[in-house]
Amino acid sequence: MTEPAELDSLSDEAFRKRLRDWLEEYYPPEWRRPVIFRLRGDSEKRWLRLMHDHGWRLPSWPKEYGGLGLPLTKQLAYHEEMAQFGTARWLDMGGTLLGPTLIKFGTPEQKAKYLPEIVRGDVIWCQGYSEPNAGSDLASLKTTARRDGDHFVVNGTKIWTTMATDAQRMFLLVRTSQEERKQQGISFLLADMDLPGITVEPIVNLAGEDEFAQVFLDDVRVPAENLVGEPGQGWTVAKALLGVERITTASPAPARYAFDVLDRLISFAQSDQHALRQLHGQLLCDLEDYVALYAQTTDAYIDGRVEGHELCVLKMLSSDLFQRISEACLQAAGERGGSRGAVPLGADNEDLRLIYLIARPTSIYGGANDVQRDIIARAIFGSRTTLSR
Ligand SMILES: Cc1cc2nc3c(=O)[nH]c(=O)nc-3n(C[C@H](O)[C@H](O)[C@H](O)COP(=O)(O)OP(=O)(O)OC[C@H]3O[C@@H](n4cnc5c(N)ncnc54)[C@H](O)[C@@H]3O)c2cc1C
Repeated sequence: MTEPAELDSLSDEAFRKRLRDWLEEYYPPEWRRPVIFRLRGDSEKRWLRLMHDHGWRLPSWPKEYGGLGLPLTKQLAYHEEMAQFGTARWLDMGGTLLGPTLIKFGTPEQKAKYLPEIVRGDVIWCQGYSEPNAGSDLASLKTTARRDGDHFVVNGTKIWTTMATDAQRMFLLVRTSQEERKQQGISFLLADMDLPGITVEPIVNLAGEDEFAQVFLDDVRVPAENLVGEPGQGWTVAKALLGVERITTASPAPARYAFDVLDRLISFAQSDQHALRQLHGQLLCDLEDYVALYAQTTDAYIDGRVEGHELCVLKMLSSDLFQRISEACLQAAGERGGSRGAVPLGADNEDLRLIYLIARPTSIYGGANDVQRDIIARAIFGSRTTLSR
């Protein structure tokens, strides 16, 4: 097992090589399908456990809580090496979202109960924030939690809850009081998914996968000790900084992968299509620009010189680029672009439709792109910006 202390003393290059060597030796080859393949349920747990057992779990978590406690440069190198190696996608909401929140706001009992099981990868968590009429405008959420003795009684519904069907636990935002400002009176709760009154109804997405669900909560009794932070302070808890994950979600890796597919499609094309080659050239320039901007921003991030809206710029540009390249792939594939399933591409197969469908929601989740644009405009022009004169 690799000890975190050992990793600290390695140069960045030696650290990268150590991780690459480990992936070559231990990463299950059948999972080496970047972008289009997602680990979920038991396979996700197996992967989290494998990383844990070999000392590669949770680069940003402090060592005292079982993480690697790496400096930012190594955390970013870690994510880059994983992407370059071509690991599958995995969500790990416990490790990326809840864990850092509990480290900051949790009680000693909550930390002792939940953090070790997250580190070991024993439990899958899902995020119950969005509701049918509260997505971008999350503070309009209506799910209520009424205090009744040692419990909160929760009623309402959550939607687009990714991996709710696989999850054993959910962290959720609920309204514990009505206040003048809608951001007030929201609380942050932890609930076991097998509590009586919780019903999970899978939602099938355009790709035909049931990755998310609507969760109904009817008189669900959640122990009061599962409140994180103060009652009514859930907005502050939920908006706490997520650490390095905020920047890694804007990684150019998915766009780069799709561009590689586009490259191969064009090289195998039967006829020379001038318009397509022009589009390819334009996308190549945009990709290289983005890679450079991402590198510049990560350097600035390491030096603590990045503001929130600059991360919004990355989120917006990376999802836009991934979508445009995935559309160009369908165009380059001609008639085969409409096929279901994998399309032969030289010695390999690629599922172009799946790449396209995976790119679509990237401009919605984690904050819709229109809202990102709004945040950027306000940061640059001031909060009194309006669309009209
Ligand atoms: C694949 C996927 C996974 C998800 N997983 C989860 C999850 O695990 N947990 C969870 O809680 N949520 C999850 N979500 C929900 C996600 O957070 C919301 O979809 C997102 O916040 C947008 O909210 P909405 O869908 O209600 O759309 P709305 O907020 O209703 O937006 C509809 C449209 O209006 C635009 N719009 C809204 N407000 C403004 C504004 N102020 N200015 C300009 N335009 C605006 C939006 O950009 C969008 O185009 C997931 C969503 C997707 C697609």
